[in-house]
Amino acid sequence: MIPYGRQSISDEDIGSVVEVLRSDFLTQGPQVERFEDALCEKVEVNHCIVTNSATSALHLACLALGITSGDRVWTSPITFVASANCALYCGADVDFVDIDPVTFNMSVFSLEQKLIEAKAQNKLPKLVIPVHLGGLSCDMERIFELSQQYNFKIVEDASHAVGGRYKGHSIGCCQFSDVAIFSFHPVKNMTTAEGGAALTNVGTLAEKIRLLRGHGVTRDQEKMEINAHGPWYYQQIALGYNYRLSDIHAALGVNQLKRLDQFVEARHSIAEYYNEKFEHLPLKRQAQLPDCYSALHLYIIQLDLSSLQNTHLWVFEKLRELGIGVNIHYIPVHTQPWYQQYGFADGDFPHAENYYRRAISLPIFPDMTNQQLDHVVSSIEQTLV
Ligand SMILES: *Cc1c(COP(=O)(O)O)cnc(C)c1O
Repeated sequence: MIPYGRQSISDEDIGSVVEVLRSDFLTQGPQVERFEDALCEKVEVNHCIVTNSATSALHLACLALGITSGDRVWTSPITFVASANCALYCGADVDFVDIDPVTFNMSVFSLEQKLIEAKAQNKLPKLVIPVHLGGLSCDMERIFELSQQYNFKIVEDASHAVGGRYKGHSIGCCQFSDVAIFSFHPVKNMTTAEGGAALTNVGTLAEKIRLLRGHGVTRDQEKMEINAHGPWYYQQIALGYNYRLSDIHAALGVNQLKRLDQFVEARHSIAEYYNEKFEHLPLKRQAQLPDCYSALHLYIIQLDLSSLQNTHLWVFEKLRELGIGVNIHYIPVHTQPWYQQYGFADGDFPHAENYYRRAISLPIFPDMTNQQLDHVVSSIEQTLV
């Protein structure tokens, strides 16, 4: 089976991990700081805090922004459940903004309509979490303008967008957001096995995120509420978590980051090949916008069901039978049983649901061979009839 995504691990990556295993520090050593500095430099952002997953980083970002019970947090229904769950962890209420059927990202038009209604009902969100689906940036400039007008914070879920660009800057630079989140899960654009990062330009947010990543415990005398008893002394000043990334994982990240641009370029060549081959087939692709360089984490197609003889399910199963590890990103979060208890129902976000009924993600990863690529193309050609 050709997977929809797969990590690319070099001998140098393996060497960097082995080196840590032979060193004094397996965790909380020099590699974490190195990885954080390298990420800051790469995306041109002031602060970076790496964590054991993007989910942890999302949780910490919400906590640092003061999200708590009674607050409202909005995100896209077409995302992995973690983008919404992070708000539930904090006791907040989650709601969704329908997607744009062309970009598959949160629609800024729907966002504005929903904000107008929410304002009238005195139910404005405290935080909006746009998700850059497949690595294509949301319209962050417009979302930022709305945040100024309606007074909400922004956390970008950039789990898919590591290595992407928006309006001349790296995604993650936080030009139009408070915090941006990366994921380094193996299917994502670069990996630390498990891992994530929170990036921000706001020093106070970075400090809170860092504190909460490590149990809320500090060794910094200036932050302590009473004087240290001695050099062994540490003090817990908040209720934090153990969301640390180990040095083993961080070393892999430092080395993977060197190849990030190469990885994204390889994704673009694959996408261009697909685009050309699929031009005459009954399918629609995710729009690629001017001023956006997608990180192309996913190659998503929308089947034109009206001109196909078969169903979405049939096409999916047929492709799997042919050895293509297709997948679907994502089942709309509001239709999950867990979310139905909050009163969401089918029909609430029609563009998202319509998208889901047609979506298929095709294999795209840097080490894909020409033979694999051609097998995907011929399988699609024979399936979409
Ligand atoms: C993968 C992913 C996450 C979670 O990432 P982890 O590192 O596995 O916690 C969150 N949001 C989106 C959109 C993702 O794709």
